[in-house]
Amino acid sequence: MAISSSEAVLPNPDPKPISENDILHVFWHEGMLKHDKGRGVFDTGMDPGFLDVLENHPENSDRVKNMVSILKRGPIAPFVSWHQGRPALISELLSFHTQEYINELVEADKHQGKIICSGTFLNPGSWDAALLAAGTTLSAMKHILDGHAKITYALVRPPGHHAQPTRADGYCFLNNAGLAVQLALSSGLKNVAVIDIDVHYGNGTAEGFYRSDRVLTISLHMNHGSWGPSHPQNGTVDELGEEKGFGYNLNIPLPNGSGDRGYMHAMNELVVPAVEKFEPAMMVLVVGQDSSAFDPNGRQCLTMEGYRKIGQIVREMADKHCDGRLLIVQEGGYHVTYSAYCLHATLEGVLNFPAPLLSDPLAYYPEDETFTTVVVESMKKYHREFVPFLK
Ligand SMILES: [Zn+2]
Repeated sequence: MAISSSEAVLPNPDPKPISENDILHVFWHEGMLKHDKGRGVFDTGMDPGFLDVLENHPENSDRVKNMVSILKRGPIAPFVSWHQGRPALISELLSFHTQEYINELVEADKHQGKIICSGTFLNPGSWDAALLAAGTTLSAMKHILDGHAKITYALVRPPGHHAQPTRADGYCFLNNAGLAVQLALSSGLKNVAVIDIDVHYGNGTAEGFYRSDRVLTISLHMNHGSWGPSHPQNGTVDELGEEKGFGYNLNIPLPNGSGDRGYMHAMNELVVPAVEKFEPAMMVLVVGQDSSAFDPNGRQCLTMEGYRKIGQIVREMADKHCDGRLLIVQEGGYHVTYSAYCLHATLEGVLNFPAPLLSDPLAYYPEDETFTTVVVESMKKYHREFVPFLK
């Protein structure tokens, strides 16, 4: 059963990160709340006519309002510094997206919006929010590149990791993280590692850098496969990249139901060794709380503890390889309250708090990681056989 709410905040009267210089710089703009995907049967936008109560589209502003408020009023609040986001310029979008695709979105916006692909609605206000999400992520990256901070977090919506150079997909229009990576590369950084823990395959980011050996894209996701014309990629282990980029896209599809221990095994056995060999100059953590045990849009079972540990591991890698440079970019996460808790836990891990600041109000399901462990071992063998830089 759930613990009572009086136990939900741990008695930690003087919480401090390990290094007192650690501050999380959060980039946010409230204009992103104006993106409204409407109501229907889950994410379809459809009213079948026989349901009295329709629900908000899962990618709604409430989920992000709670992420903002938990960082403003939760126990991590004293360690957060807030920065105003800004819209991206059209010219900035062309480092990742094609002119034709951007024109298509601009036209859709002029015509009061439309369904761009399944579940993905560009309504009045959506395009402005998408520009804010892209620009705010670019600002968060620039803050690091200019040497003003080591760790920044772009708290943005609509999400971006499914958006490919030439098409929208899965609630995403512009690839916020991909644009930030391009900015880092064009600013002179030699290479960047992107670790995507959203429950869905980060296909857009992978596609954008599929032929590049300067960006190592790693995605841990559930086994959902291709979901139609907007998402032709399968997210399978054999989609390794092409040409110069061969081996620099590592897909880690974990069995549905994988939880904290299964994810830890995959991080330690597959992600950490690959990053070690790649030696990135910058780390980008693409976070989605839809890998949580309670997300309506995912079939994985992470709890706050797992998110906290992932945050710690990624921070450790950033410290070891990237002089601490770490950009965190928000993606999915659709449970309106638990997503905020999982975000808080991830950031606690990133800031290296020696003990949790918030306890988990929901985690009480058992985990059987046996199958995940077997699958991770087989992927490890596969990488050693086929990925040149991991041999
Ligand atoms: Zn997702």
